[in-house]
Amino acid sequence: MNKMTYNELGAVPLTSFKGIGKSRAELFFKQGIVSARDVLDYFPRNYLDERQRTPISEIMVDQDVIIRGRLLGELKNFHKGRMTITNGRIADETGEIPVVWFNQPYLVNNLKAGGLYLFQGRVKRNGYRIQLSSPKVQPASEEMPGIVSVYPLGGGLTQKMVSGAVRGALDLLDPLDDPLPMNYRQTFPDRFTAYSDMHYPETFEKMEKARARLAFDELFIQQLALIRMKQGRDEQRTGLSLKGDPDKERNLTESLPYPLTGAQERCVTEIRQDLASDKAMNRLLQGDVGSGKTVVAFLSVYRAFLSGYQSALMVPTEVLARQHYQEAARVLEPFGLKVSLLTGSVTGKERKQLLEDLAEGRIDLLIGTHALIQDTVAFHSLGLVITDEQHRFGVRQRMVLAGKGAEEKASINVLVMTATPIPRTLTMILYGDMDISLLDEMPPGRTPVKTYSVDTGYEERLYRFMRSQVEQGHQVYIICPAVEAQEDSQETENPLRSATDYSAFLSQSVFPDLTVGLLHGKMKPALKEEVMQDFVDGKIQILVSTTVVEVGVNVPNASLMVIENAERFGLAQLHQLRGRVGRGKTESFCVLVSDQKQTSTRKRLKVLVDSTDGFYIAEEDLRLRGSGDVFGLRQHGFPQFKAADLYRDMDLLRQAQQLSRTVMELDPSLNQLEHRGIRQELERFWENAVITQAGTG
Ligand code: ADP
Ligand code: MG
Repeated sequence: MNKMTYNELGAVPLTSFKGIGKSRAELFFKQGIVSARDVLDYFPRNYLDERQRTPISEIMVDQDVIIRGRLLGELKNFHKGRMTITNGRIADETGEIPVVWFNQPYLVNNLKAGGLYLFQGRVKRNGYRIQLSSPKVQPASEEMPGIVSVYPLGGGLTQKMVSGAVRGALDLLDPLDDPLPMNYRQTFPDRFTAYSDMHYPETFEKMEKARARLAFDELFIQQLALIRMKQGRDEQRTGLSLKGDPDKERNLTESLPYPLTGAQERCVTEIRQDLASDKAMNRLLQGDVGSGKTVVAFLSVYRAFLSGYQSALMVPTEVLARQHYQEAARVLEPFGLKVSLLTGSVTGKERKQLLEDLAEGRIDLLIGTHALIQDTVAFHSLGLVITDEQHRFGVRQRMVLAGKGAEEKASINVLVMTATPIPRTLTMILYGDMDISLLDEMPPGRTPVKTYSVDTGYEERLYRFMRSQVEQGHQVYIICPAVEAQEDSQETENPLRSATDYSAFLSQSVFPDLTVGLLHGKMKPALKEEVMQDFVDGKIQILVSTTVVEVGVNVPNASLMVIENAERFGLAQLHQLRGRVGRGKTESFCVLVSDQKQTSTRKRLKVLVDSTDGFYIAEEDLRLRGSGDVFGLRQHGFPQFKAADLYRDMDLLRQAQQLSRTVMELDPSLNQLEHRGIRQELERFWENAVITQAGTG
């Protein structure tokens, strides 16, 4: 058979493999696998080592085992109430054991009498006998026992179908095809070996080497893309050089009720330098909740104004927009700026007038939600765009913009402000294309929020505490992980508290004399805004909410934050939530409620009890991370990798970054023959970024 390159495999449909017809290809398609190349990149979720199997004669109760055995006879389903129970027996050379599954009736059709399978599960006692309970199953090869790949499945795919397709794709792949020239490979295996060992490892060492190679490739290409974006931007001259007026700027600073912190001074200077140069600014202002980003933004706006340019400040919610508007009007209007607010609720004549003023340059700072970047909104001379709390404007979106070559947008000065404490080690992945200013110093005089971690046994005391806070004239947030009660929840041991039920319960049974409000993401936007505004205005005393309040709202009168099912949230997110209190002069509290006793949960919550430093917390989150995306990076537009694991692969990332810099210095446009493979990978990366973006809307 003719061998093909990895890229050529991208044009080979799955139907060209033996045993895959139209309907099977459809199953693959549902998992996002279209071509032979996609199959290669569909990595095992897990590996089973058949050599570690337990002989049936040696198994013990409560043990997790892998059994390699044959199914004796057919499986049988029977019904008990609403449950289907599937029974069978398995045997190996040493003995037999019953096996049972619950509510998986289809297994009867999937497993054949006499077939050889791997069963992975727990041995349990059932009356007098022991049985294997709900094991995961997968076909075992009749050959020598070895390491077996376990693929993520879904929508009707079976392990056998996937491994068959993988075999087919590997058979086609040209062993010599490798985008990394030999001298860049360091200790990594070549790409063919890497794919082969990823899918069919002989040893776990080989598998890990293979994964490292494929992870390196991903990180390397991603780093190249970031460098490219940065270069593209550096070449772009706006012709705008906003030099401001140092004397007037000093006057504004002196009009503030407080001196700037050292960090604020430094960040303002960095921003002013960017603005004064004729390159477009593309800067990230990263500062913990309460570090004083807003005033830094205002000082930047003033510089643009003094140089004859308008500014736009974009925020995620109307409430936040209104808050910023009030503050900006107070600080900036005495210095001659006209500040306006544009939200969805500005309509009709008023809106028309506003847009006209804007287009004719009578407005100097426009504040609003993303309505600001709509096509109908035309500025007279826009020189600076600031986005606040924009952690949702992730690297992917920026890449799309860059990929589309949106010259116009790219040439405007951009300042992105975020309170998401990204571990320092990860900033280069997320923001490698931006310049970074760090507000790493809190304004003086803050009393840190006192944080406690309790279980639901403290409920009565907590109610009394809430009441005492309200009686002192303060307000309370209660955060719940769910909007509504989950009916079919499997978690009877640790049920999730729902905002809807809990707020009803509190207002009827616990605080009938107080005003309890409800806020969650399924409410209509207008209603959400109304509730939030009522809380800002003090009309609601206790606000039961989901995490929608996470983003930047400032209610200095709120003094207590209670977080239910605290184990459900990532540390960084808990930190963000806690940042909603402790914004005024009063002593503030945060109570983390969780009934989970696992040491890992306890340890995580303790980090929060012990520290209020967002960056420290983020680093700890990274270190203590369990499985899954606790850090919540996905929602922050974090790039998704197939082989790379950002929590483990810091060294690979550093290597990838180094090599990407070297290559870009050597051959900036990747024209040299030996870089052709790399260039192709990079082009594919851009395509994917754009496609993925379009796909997820
Ligand atoms: P964030 O970085 O979370 O957006 P803000 O800009 O809202 O923080 O600032 C939080 C609070 O700190 C505001 O009430 C603001 O007036 C105040 N603040 C900002 N800078 C200073 C400073 N240098 N000294 C004292 N208070 C400050
Ligand atoms: Mg803010």
